[in-house]
Amino acid sequence: MRTQYCGALNTSFIDQQVTLCGWVDRRRDHGGVIFIDLRDRDGVVQVVFDPDAAENFKIADKVRSEYVLRVQGRVRARSEATINPNMATGEVEVYGLEVEILNSAETPPFPLHDTTVGEDVRLRYRYVDLRRQDMQERLRFRSRVTTAIRNYLDDNGFLDIETPILTRATPEGARDYLVPSRTHEGKFFALPQSPQLFKQLLMVSGFDRYYQIAKCFRDEDLRADRQPEFTQIDIETSFMDEEQIMAVTEGMIRQLFSRLKGVELGEFPRMPYAEAMQTYGSDKPDLRIPLQLTEIKDLLKDIDFKVFAGPANDPKCRVTALKVSGGASISRKQIDEYTKFVGIYGARGLAWIKVNELEKGVEGLQSPIIKFLGDEVTLQIMERTGAANGDIVFFGADKSKVVTEALGALRCKLGEDLDLYTCDWAPLWVVDFPMFEETDDGSLTSLHHPFTAPSCAADELRANPAAALSRAYDMVLNGCELGGGSIRIHQKPMQQAVFEVLGIDTAEQREKFGFLLDALQYGAPPHGGLAFGLDRLIMLMTGAHSIRDVIAFPKTQSAACVMTDAPGAVATEQLRELNIRLKKKEPVA
Ligand code: ASP
Repeated sequence: MRTQYCGALNTSFIDQQVTLCGWVDRRRDHGGVIFIDLRDRDGVVQVVFDPDAAENFKIADKVRSEYVLRVQGRVRARSEATINPNMATGEVEVYGLEVEILNSAETPPFPLHDTTVGEDVRLRYRYVDLRRQDMQERLRFRSRVTTAIRNYLDDNGFLDIETPILTRATPEGARDYLVPSRTHEGKFFALPQSPQLFKQLLMVSGFDRYYQIAKCFRDEDLRADRQPEFTQIDIETSFMDEEQIMAVTEGMIRQLFSRLKGVELGEFPRMPYAEAMQTYGSDKPDLRIPLQLTEIKDLLKDIDFKVFAGPANDPKCRVTALKVSGGASISRKQIDEYTKFVGIYGARGLAWIKVNELEKGVEGLQSPIIKFLGDEVTLQIMERTGAANGDIVFFGADKSKVVTEALGALRCKLGEDLDLYTCDWAPLWVVDFPMFEETDDGSLTSLHHPFTAPSCAADELRANPAAALSRAYDMVLNGCELGGGSIRIHQKPMQQAVFEVLGIDTAEQREKFGFLLDALQYGAPPHGGLAFGLDRLIMLMTGAHSIRDVIAFPKTQSAACVMTDAPGAVATEQLRELNIRLKKKEPVA
């Protein structure tokens, strides 16, 4: 139907006759001459109709925003005065010779150029929202990324193999989405939280290098950067150790950034998990921010001030300082805001010291807590943190988890609020994770997933599971976990040892993972892999603020689709076939 895309036109087409198809972006009537900005996926070009083209002028006069047109015309140069430098096609316009209305359109539910439209209405009319230039650009960029990924992995010998969507529970630490089975009464499929076990089985089958751009489903309470249904770049290899896996996947990310963004990321540094938590208060430290946490527990053991001395003498607690260079200008009001902010993480307060004139000793400091700390300890803290005039030091004293999370989050918030970033991109690998973490009831759960190999032998693991490290690795970029993976367990006794530590008894092991334990007995090779979150990667690369802005049809925060109105009720007949009866909702008293 067309000869060119609107957005492709430039001065090299001058005097050529072209046929364009697209949407009316804007229509203006300038004293008898009608200007139509015609838009397609490549961009916008101005089409001019004057009354000389009588019939066509009448049609052009009728069209409104978002009508679908087919236009024939001649490309001509714009006069010097009418060149539009803000438009890619701004040096030319099309003199319209013929126009055909392919479809009319209702007034759009919101003006496409309005950037203040609420997300709810955008999602309800997503097909209109996706016409907007930024959405078009992001989804095109996403397509370029997935193409580049496929090419890279293909060049490196990886095979693209699909795995089932209707499957059994795959433990990645979230709730499953369940699908009732009609043919097996009372039984349910689970949608995969990831293709983890299938990709491991593909290694047992000898495929050696697998990848898949896979949909994963996790029924979680949603935070800003989560979706119930999301996409992973899922990778698994055999006969490679962690160094080789990290090298090949790091190479992929480096190449993506280099080719698609012109950014050279360089070699990624490595950081042990313990150091990340200790120094940055996060297992995904944002290394663009130059702030670090300083332990001061030893300095506070003997003071009278219970708020600090209590945690300082409790092995389950941390007492930590966060120095912010130049932070003395933070107002009391802002400090109150930050106090509320750390409260989200369970911190019961946020003590601080401002450094005005350090040469005057404690006289030169400003803080409500110095009188409780005593002069000597205060100055020791100043020395340990390296505080200088103009700085502020914040404090956290509580259970280790609370202090780590609160100050880790505060560190990032300060980095953002005060624009402390020292570079645009800060990638790293976090390594040496613990195998397990303690849950609130004191039992152990896997930090990654139960198929992750420990770096010790099975006996050692059983003897002291809390101290065991895993062979897992996470790739972190700008404070976001881009991807994570591990070397897997490939021998049955070790897999059983891990299940035991997790409190999964033999019967449950058989019931849930019998197929995996069996497979490990039929010649499972050493293997490992990882998965990247594609949506988050695109979000970072495009600078989008929400993960929903890089997904064509995302779910809302409450895990619904307002466009299709899913999830929806189903007919009683369908439920009957599935042998499901819905309980009547209790009336609200
Ligand atoms: N299956 C893991 C996940 O979804 C990634 C991996 O270990 O490969 O987080």
